[in-house]
Amino acid sequence: MSIPDKSLLGLTFTELEAVLTADNVLTHHAKQLWRIVHRQATADPSQVALSPPLAKWVAGNIGAGKSHCIDLPEQAEEIHSSDGLTRKYLLRLTDGQVIETVLMEYEGRFTACVSSQAGCAMGCVFCATGQMGFVRHLTAGEIVAQVLHVRRALAASHPHRRLRNLVLMGMGEPLHNYDAVMKAMDIVSDPRGCAIGPARIAISTVGYVPNILRMAREKRPYRLAVSLHSSTEAERSALVPASKKWNLESLIAACRSYSRDTGKRIFFEWILIAGKNDSEDTARRLAILLDGIDSHVNLIPLNPTEGYDGHSSSSGLSFQNTLRELGIPCTFRQRRGIDVAAGCGMLKAARVKR
Ligand code: SAH
Ligand code: SF4
Repeated sequence: MSIPDKSLLGLTFTELEAVLTADNVLTHHAKQLWRIVHRQATADPSQVALSPPLAKWVAGNIGAGKSHCIDLPEQAEEIHSSDGLTRKYLLRLTDGQVIETVLMEYEGRFTACVSSQAGCAMGCVFCATGQMGFVRHLTAGEIVAQVLHVRRALAASHPHRRLRNLVLMGMGEPLHNYDAVMKAMDIVSDPRGCAIGPARIAISTVGYVPNILRMAREKRPYRLAVSLHSSTEAERSALVPASKKWNLESLIAACRSYSRDTGKRIFFEWILIAGKNDSEDTARRLAILLDGIDSHVNLIPLNPTEGYDGHSSSSGLSFQNTLRELGIPCTFRQRRGIDVAAGCGMLKAARVKR
């Protein structure tokens, strides 16, 4: 299911320029509109002093029933973690779907975590979004709108700070919604607008093999993170049903070819689950799998979810040490904002239950 994208936020600069010049509005007015929307993150351009031809175009073309809209999601809920470093937003889209967007501060730097779908079709057993099932893909405009929402919130609380990093680790599988995600990333990395450096954008995938290869083929400048979680096929399929479609062997082969063709490091995400994937033997098998791939392993504590009875592991340190001794860089992801239910899909799951 998809909804028509009339959103101005889903247009690249070239597309916006084409729309305006077709209406006899000059390129430099298109640049002005782009700056207002994407650099200044202005919610309503009609409230800004615009040059007369642009003001006329905006009045005639943006709004309900007109050719374009700037459909900003409504903020249904905002929750701050007790340490004040994580803010989680529940955003309601125009069709009523609710998605999550998170703003995190780490050592004075700000990172946004955005959603790519409402729900997710991949069904990972430990994941609150997977437990919800798939609802629909987000449009490019809806993905860009999350970044603008976070930037406006940041401007209000920290007027001199920039959003530096972006991760596609909210709800959904970004490589299942490839075209919209790549377009949205092209828009937010445009140096004339949001200007988030492409190397500061990480796309996290469950292991959607054909689109990992496509990212390499198309020379997409973003970072790739692969949620691996297991080092044998049987263990992985039990946690990540998508592994039955794109098995571990084909996933590692795709990573190897991505690494070779792009020369870029791959980040492997590993949720540590007690007794399932946290032994030193597993770490040794993982090191063999990753041999020859420029990799970095991120260890993530399991966030508890309603639909999964696994427990967070306490053997993370020995797992980390084993990997390091075998030459694989490995660090712990901060367990940031667990008190605001900042795990993937968790705030929404909690809210739906209430
Ligand atoms: N679909 C993509 C991106 C969204 S999920 C993917 O799976 O990579 C983002 C990250 O959150 C993934 O690494 C995922 O494994 C992790 N995650 C999901 N549920 C979690 C939970 N209950 N505890 C900790 N991490 C979780
Ligand atoms: Fe989807 Fe990622 Fe959750 Fe798996 S972990 S169900 S791929 S959002």
